[in-house]
Order: sequence, then C-alpha cells, then structure tokens
Amino acid sequence: MTPRQNAILVFNAGSSSIKAALYGLSEDRHAPLELISRFHLSGLRGPHPQIRLTDAQEKVLLERSLPASCDHETGAQTVLERLLKDGQINLLAVGHRVVHGGSTYTAPVLITDDVLRDLSTFIRLAPQHQPHNLRAIRLIQEMLPTLPQIACFDTAFHSSMPDMATLVPLPRDIRNKGVRNYGFHGLSYEYIAGRLPQLRKDGRIYGRCIVAHMGHGVSMCALKDGKSIATSMGFTALAGLPMGFRSGTVDPGILLYLLEEEGLSVAELKDLLYHKSGLYGLSGVSDDVRDLLRKDSPDTRRALDYFAYRINREIGSLTAALGGLDALVFTAGIGENSPEIRRQVCALAAWLDIRLDEGKNAQNAALISTPDSPVEVWVIPTNEEVMIARHTIALLP
Ligand code: ADP
Repeated sequence: MTPRQNAILVFNAGSSSIKAALYGLSEDRHAPLELISRFHLSGLRGPHPQIRLTDAQEKVLLERSLPASCDHETGAQTVLERLLKDGQINLLAVGHRVVHGGSTYTAPVLITDDVLRDLSTFIRLAPQHQPHNLRAIRLIQEMLPTLPQIACFDTAFHSSMPDMATLVPLPRDIRNKGVRNYGFHGLSYEYIAGRLPQLRKDGRIYGRCIVAHMGHGVSMCALKDGKSIATSMGFTALAGLPMGFRSGTVDPGILLYLLEEEGLSVAELKDLLYHKSGLYGLSGVSDDVRDLLRKDSPDTRRALDYFAYRINREIGSLTAALGGLDALVFTAGIGENSPEIRRQVCALAAWLDIRLDEGKNAQNAALISTPDSPVEVWVIPTNEEVMIARHTIALLP
C-alpha cells in the first residue's frame, strides 16, 4: 500500500463562491509546495451553482451543476468529502483566507475557540465577507474537530502602516470603536513583496515600490523596503479606486445627498455602492475589462479612461507617501492580462518618466519597462493561495 500523502488545504470562502486548493507536502518543509488540485464552487445563492475540480495542470477532473438549494455549508461539505473520499490524502491542516483581523491580529494565527470568538466581533467591520470565512471554519471544526485550522488575514500585511496612514479625521469616540484605515489584499501584496527580489537580477528589495492589484477588487499599495506604508483601501474594501462593481471612494456628501434628497434606504445605498457602480455603473454595460475593450463605445471608453486616470492619480498619492518611486508592479486579473490598461496607465504616468517596452508589454512579460526607464515596471502573477499555504505550514503544531 502506498503511504498517504501529507497535504494542507487552502480555503477561500467568498459571498458567492468557495475556492479551495490542496497542496502536497514533502519531507522537507522548506521544499516548494506541490499543488495537487483546485476546487471552485461558483454561483452559490444563484440559480446555477457549479463545482469544478482541476488538477495541477488545470485538467478538469470533475465539473457538474449542483442543486440551486446548495448553500455555503453544503458547498464546503461537498468539497471536503470529495477531497477525503479516496483516502490518499493525510490532511494536516486547513489555512483560511479571513478578510478581517481587526487591530488585534497582525499575523496569521492558529484558530482556537477564543480566536474564533474574537474574529466574530469583526463581522461588523466586514459584513460582506467575514461571516462566510467564519462559517467555513466552524463547518470544518464540526466535520474534523482535531484538524488544526489557521486564519490568514487580508488586513495583516498593512499592520506596518504608520499612524498617519491609518488615521481617519473623525472624533476620538468613533475612532476608539475601531474606525480607522485597515487596508486589504494584504496576502497578495505580501506575495508580491516576496516574489520581486526573486525576479530581480540583483535579488534586492526595492526601496520604493507601488503594487497595483487589479482584479474584481482593485487596490494599490506603497511598499517601502518591502513593507506596506500606505494603501488605497481603508476602513472597508469599498474605498479607493473604482472597481468592477464597487464605486471606490466618492464624496461622502454624495451619500448624504442620496439618503436625504433622493430617499434611498441604507440597503439601496449599499447595493448601489457595492453592486451597481464602478466600471459597470460608468459603462452601463459590464464590470469586465475584457467586455469593455471589446465593445469600444464612447461609454465603455470613458469608463476605462476614468479607471486609468484614477490609477495614475493614486500613483501620485502613493509616490508622495514613498518620497519617490523605483518600481511599479501590475498584478491580478486585469494587471496580469491587459496590456491595453497597463499601456494607458503608464502613458498617464509619463510624469515619472516611466518608459514602457511595448513589445514586452504586449507579451505580458515580467519586466516590461525599457532598460533606461528610471522606474522599473513589472507584471507579476499574484498567488494568495501559496501565501496562505506557507503561513499554514509555518504554524503547524
Ligand atoms: P479576483 O479579484 O476575484 O481574484 P481576478 O484577479 O481573477 O479576480 O480578476 C478578475 C478580473 O480580471 C475580471 O473582472 C476581468 O475584468 C479581469 N481580466 C481577466 N482577464 C483579463 C484580460 N485578458 N484582459 C482584461 N481584463 C481581464
């Protein structure tokens, strides 16, 4: 009988999807992680939930529809049962992406009942995501009570931000209740901060670097010597740049106007800001950059022009926080795959004397600036899963 392979599971439970990845561990805990398989459960709470299982080469091993009644619990259970079914895996731990660690959790943590209780108090800080993250943890606790679970936070990497970057100009009694800038996408920024020196010829960390994480959510982070010192998101992941559906920052006076003069309810306002704004709201067509590039109408062009305009303005703000700029990194769905958006952003950022190598940009190469560009421009695929897997291994009891 072949011995069972030691493995850890990475779990990312979102509002309408559950993503999971299984990594095999070799004897040497410092050896590169081996991806075994990936699960993607999509369309939860919609009419057509779907489950998809792929191997490390992205070959589809299983793809099927689930009943519309499939909720997060059933979904997570399906993933786990399928995973453990053939008995070839010895699961050592589960690492979870948890959106909010508040001011308390500035590093990944082994989950205990006390930790879980603490994390529940942050639900009010991230009501859209935190409940799903915690529900997955509880479900796994019930199914496999002795299995260690580790929480990795989207906020933790930004705990290095100075006081000025976290402060919001509101009275002390409000600030004392945890109202401050936290920042998000931390696992992505942490991965990029570690990956950059590996890609550079001299293996060094940049002193002043901006990372633009442009996926469904969009944010940017200023890295000083590899540590976060400022970011575009704030108290919530609604702040900062316009995203697919989310508005990003708007004049708070507009929100008061919509509530007082237009009679929107709080629920309607929330729906507007989270689901009907951003690229979708501006174009009236789609949240997806690919659709907007394909359609090429005045409205779609204007939406993309605004997107690039705001990114350039944020580059200005983060460059000021860093006191100059040595490197700009594009990552996540749009950043990794769209030469058009990168070209547009870099053209607007000509004030930094950024010089793009058009050929390399078109190929999605890693280093896409010319050798004489004073600011080096990179395209680096992010990998939040691997970051969670590494943290989980590091905290294995
Ligand atoms: P998430 O933030 O959920 O992890 P991704 O990082 O995969 O998502 O980013 C998804 C987004 O990436 C989509 O909304 C789409 O707009 C964008 N995207 C993916 N591929 C391309 C492409 N080839 N060109 C432009 N945009 C793309």
